[in-house]
Amino acid sequence: MSEQTIKTCLHNVNTRIIDAAQRFGRDPQQIQLVAVSKTKPVSAIIEAYEAGQMRFGENYVQEAIDKIQVLADKAIEWHFIGNIQSNKADLIAKHFQWVHTVDNVRHAKLLNQYRAGLPPLQVCIQVNISNEPSKGGALAHEVMDLAHQIQRLPNLKLRGLMAIPKPSDYFEEQANAAKALHILKELLNRRGFELDTLSIGMSHDLEAAISEGATMVRVGTDIFGKRA
Ligand SMILES: *Cc1c(COP(=O)(O)O)cnc(C)c1O
Repeated sequence: MSEQTIKTCLHNVNTRIIDAAQRFGRDPQQIQLVAVSKTKPVSAIIEAYEAGQMRFGENYVQEAIDKIQVLADKAIEWHFIGNIQSNKADLIAKHFQWVHTVDNVRHAKLLNQYRAGLPPLQVCIQVNISNEPSKGGALAHEVMDLAHQIQRLPNLKLRGLMAIPKPSDYFEEQANAAKALHILKELLNRRGFELDTLSIGMSHDLEAAISEGATMVRVGTDIFGKRA
């Protein structure tokens, strides 16, 4: 890994996305890459940015804001993909363009409140798609009601669903998680929502996610190397 530059790794990931799209009859233009830069230095982000990457995902609020401020002159779209804490909702709402991890109405209302005066915050509902007891995310049966509540908040724009499935080495299991999320999105759209985003797929399962409709894959390790 250390032998390869970030530029090369990024190129390889983009190639995997295009190959998977072709293999599964998807339009590669419909699949966006969020480069997950958590724990990685600003220099790594700049390297990826200069190689053409413009969407970055971060999990830890203070670390992210330090980077966002240093990189303020760059045309970067920042995605918050970490757990939301109420006392950080203000900072998240004001510094990011996207939040992938809204899983309850209390957080949605806080983000909406702090986003006032800015363009709408693009949000996804995080779904606990593998029904893991200790994991974040709304349960599938809670998603419809939460979506209706988010839709009433003027400073949030509900774009879609996000999940972090239980890790699996098997393509079919990986694909099944994405498929379940996709079905849920279609169900919402049949009830009048216009969701266009399915945020699923990471370094180890992006092909399977793309096979079942992912429109945003979030890749860290395979671009920036292992995290400490
Ligand atoms: C860290 C992280 C990723 C990236 O995972 P990799 O396996 O390093 O590609 C994607 N999504 C979320 C929510 C993460 O926390």
